[in-house]
Amino acid sequence: MAWRSNHQAVYPDTSLPFSSSGCPSTALSVPSTAASSYPPSSRRYTVTKSIPISVKKAEICSTSNREVMGWLDAMKAQSPPRFETYMGGVFDSKAQEAAAVAQYSAWMDNHPSALENFGELIEEAAGKQIAVFLDYDGTLSPIVEDPDRAFMSDLMRATVKEVATLFPTAIISGRGREKVYDFVQLAELYYAGSHGMDIMGPAEGCNGFKATGTRAKDNNGNDIVFFQPASRFLPMMDEVCKLLEEKANTISGAKIEHNKFCVTIHFRRVKEEFWGPLAEHVERVLKSFPELQLTLGRKVLEIRPAIEWDKGKAVEFLLKSLGLEDVSDVLPVYLGDDRTDEDAFMALNERGKAFSILVSTVAKSTNALYSLRDPSEVMTFLQTLVRWRKSQIECLSIDKDER
Ligand SMILES: [Mg+2]
Repeated sequence: MAWRSNHQAVYPDTSLPFSSSGCPSTALSVPSTAASSYPPSSRRYTVTKSIPISVKKAEICSTSNREVMGWLDAMKAQSPPRFETYMGGVFDSKAQEAAAVAQYSAWMDNHPSALENFGELIEEAAGKQIAVFLDYDGTLSPIVEDPDRAFMSDLMRATVKEVATLFPTAIISGRGREKVYDFVQLAELYYAGSHGMDIMGPAEGCNGFKATGTRAKDNNGNDIVFFQPASRFLPMMDEVCKLLEEKANTISGAKIEHNKFCVTIHFRRVKEEFWGPLAEHVERVLKSFPELQLTLGRKVLEIRPAIEWDKGKAVEFLLKSLGLEDVSDVLPVYLGDDRTDEDAFMALNERGKAFSILVSTVAKSTNALYSLRDPSEVMTFLQTLVRWRKSQIECLSIDKDER
């Protein structure tokens, strides 16, 4: 049985040099926070090696309560208590607050703000097509107690829609594809639900990119492409969901979410004294399905098919199906907050050139090169991206008229 939470990362020995070539100043339109750091510095980022992060599969040994508690400890570490947060946190003392601020500040030396260093994205994107990949929960929407109420704001939706009109854009989420579509409600995007195991999108995006792949028609008769590498697991996931729900119904606050190709067990609203019994039940169910594996996230455990497919593979698939796999012509920008996004960060690091951004209010081990604190900073970043691209298009249009 594979489990992903107790391995050291095999982390690429990488420092990403940023091109010294800049973008025409007439194409720039950055907010004051970003403008303060422009022109981009010529420094190179070196990401800490040997970061203890779980991105490689490991074998689960014999299951025991001790192991279950290990899952729970790792799960808690993914979603630290509020008093540990840097911005807007509640601290027991001034010293604790100062320590948290210092820790976050030191972490940002290796993972600087994507917003304050927006000029570096402009520099790297010169002459390239940007492709945007967005996680949903904790990235576009706040993390909330009830997962069914993780709504994104109308302003965020409008911003993402603008992004999608300018760049090929995809949502990569652990949620079921239909569910994340219900939250986002934008037909022009590509959606990769169930951690990339359920990919679908318009055959021709509104930005003119034509996707290749298996074709079908949606309910409205529109041409779509889709890809479901774990389709044979669907009946198994239904069975797992049913078995988990039987126990969850006896524990207050426990919630089982069927995300099609993965099942998510939510602990956020469960009193901690009941975390153990719930996790032990997960362990018992998992033992009956050797073809499935366990992963963990922010106060969630997830059961999914043990196939070599994750958000990183989904990003690679989308880049390829959109004809965007050429490293020299394309700059992927990926934003995510969760442990499962690390697969995408690592895939993009291995690709060579990308702008990977972890959304986090706390210092975390990550493969991402940059950081943003929360969904509100994500929105500002996306708005900046839109403004920059629009001004660039405007400048190109003026240049063309003057010729
Ligand atoms: Mg997330």
